[in-house]
Amino acid sequence: MDGAVDVSGLVGRAREGQARAVARLISLVEDESSHLREVAAALNPLAGNARVLGLTGPPGVGKSTTTSMLVTAFRGQGLRVGVLAIDPSSPFSGGALLGDRIRMHDHATDPDVFIRSMATRGQLGGLAAATPQALRVLDAAGCDVVLIETVGVGQSEVDIVALADTTVVLLAPGMGDGVQAAKAGILEVADVFVVNKADRDGAEQTVRDLKHMISLGRRELGPSWRQPIVRTVASAGEGVEDLTAALDQHREWLVAHGELEVRRTRRAEREIEAIAVAALRSRLGVGHEALGRVARRVAAGELDPYAAADQLTG
Ligand code: GDP
Repeated sequence: MDGAVDVSGLVGRAREGQARAVARLISLVEDESSHLREVAAALNPLAGNARVLGLTGPPGVGKSTTTSMLVTAFRGQGLRVGVLAIDPSSPFSGGALLGDRIRMHDHATDPDVFIRSMATRGQLGGLAAATPQALRVLDAAGCDVVLIETVGVGQSEVDIVALADTTVVLLAPGMGDGVQAAKAGILEVADVFVVNKADRDGAEQTVRDLKHMISLGRRELGPSWRQPIVRTVASAGEGVEDLTAALDQHREWLVAHGELEVRRTRRAEREIEAIAVAALRSRLGVGHEALGRVARRVAAGELDPYAAADQLTG
């Protein structure tokens, strides 16, 4: 599928908002096609305008519902919105750009909403590299906001969602969420907490538990930002104004403290690192002749491992 591709034509059509061109560009970056460099080079000068919001939390907490609620709110402000749903457990990826998530059906026919699922196909390094690139496609295609939603709760997904300008961590009553969340390290990455399913018994207890956990695990935030806790009933669209207000406040805080630039530079660092490590891996690949050669010498005591690594990377 890697034949001739008119990258600049695709980029032009994506900027006009053509969903198929956006989908094709994401496929090109996701499939690590031979056009990857060309696509990245064409898109990079056009990106940097989108607000990037990450959403994470345990399964069933209401991430998809909340994402959909936020999409509705942003569309109400006339903004173009992109959604990247990251699902490391799923073998499925790509597919239709629109409406491939069940709760996104409301937005499936909206030409100013781009929705894309991304899966790892078993290699998280791939996702770490592909997610920022897919984000760049949506950004360059004129999305004012991109929501990155992770379906899983492992550290790797947390790392990905933490690439956002603002990271939202969702909890809900009665899910043993405190322990889960602490385990997955998601408390540390939260800029804004959402206690969803506030219509359920135990919501206030969850808020109290959360406040307690926040007070125990004060995170190194640099210039003070107090992580707000927003109560929502996403399935009824309740609390969405409070949530968007908290997101706006965080945005202002980021800008006022120079943190936006810090975060975006960090995001670029991670992306470069993922690309470089992938390149190095493919050069050194297990079973690679040169690696095997020096490995035999190290095992035989003829060469120390540092000298061997120097030989490979030098
Ligand atoms: P995700 O796995 O985190 O993406 O969670 P979903 O968005 O798929 O939601 C899981 C279930 O919780 C669905 O059946 C939703 O309809 C339901 N749900 C979402 N938000 C709320 C809420 O605020 N209150 C109640 N009672 N149910 C909700």
